Amino acid sequence: SGSVRFEDVRFAYNPSRPILRGVSFEVPAGRTVAIVGPSGAGKSTLSRLLFRFYEPQEGRILIDGQDIAGVRQDSLRAAIGMVPQDTVLFNDTIGYNIRYGRWDASETDLREAARSAQIDRFIESLPEGYDTPVGERGLKLSGGEKQRVAIARTILKGPPILVLDEATSALDSFTEREIQTALDRVSRGRTTLVIAHRLSTVVNADEILVLDHGRIVERGDHSTLLARD
Ligand code: ADP
Ligand code: ADP
Repeated sequence: SGSVRFEDVRFAYNPSRPILRGVSFEVPAGRTVAIVGPSGAGKSTLSRLLFRFYEPQEGRILIDGQDIAGVRQDSLRAAIGMVPQDTVLFNDTIGYNIRYGRWDASETDLREAARSAQIDRFIESLPEGYDTPVGERGLKLSGGEKQRVAIARTILKGPPILVLDEATSALDSFTEREIQTALDRVSRGRTTLVIAHRLSTVVNADEILVLDHGRIVERGDHSTLLARD
């Protein structure tokens, strides 16, 4: 379960300036679809609509065939895991940050999530382990470590749908490749919408849609789109 479908979605923050101008696509359950396009194309706006931070002026967004216009925001947050570009951690412990929203998770679940996100060795190298404070008054994590904490949180939460919004864009290319491996792991079997501005980061997507000025202007797999460039 977890298919996502946009049907002729039109949206403007300001009526005189349309941002999405008739966007239609489907992410079949368990598949990965990437939206690529230049900055300002409307990519992040798509993910905000999926969480109902804003409502489309025309068209519909469906999850498993159900129009999300009638779905509560907290249900959407439970169903959709999000890994943003810059993860902001709570000024609390690493364990708190991973466990956030899944307070019932066992110690074993927590360790398994950390292992899957490949942050387990790092955590165990710290004198206080999971109890190490992070953020403003604690340990400053690198961009890659923060993304791993976000990935571990997502694994623990176990949502059927995943949105990766420029999740590796802020990282250097070496760290980006490492984080990509962890993201591939968490997206396996989940319906995944990847938002990126470079084709090179979405090689494994089942379908890539190119968004430009609020319209899908091209679609295909990675090799097809590269051949057209
Ligand atoms: P992308 O993610 O592709 O860079 P965005 O969806 O963030 O694009 O933005 C698309 C357009 O919408 C941009 O021109 C941006 O300035 C505008 N925009 C984004 N957020 C807002 C907002 N809250 N209010 C008004 N305009 C916005
Ligand atoms: P819970 O899952 O317990 O309801 P939150 O209400 O903090 O926890 O929501 C966390 C989830 O909400 C994230 O994983 C993501 O799915 C979504 N979310 C929160 N903030 C944003 C945001 N700025 N942009 C997109 N999604 C967000």
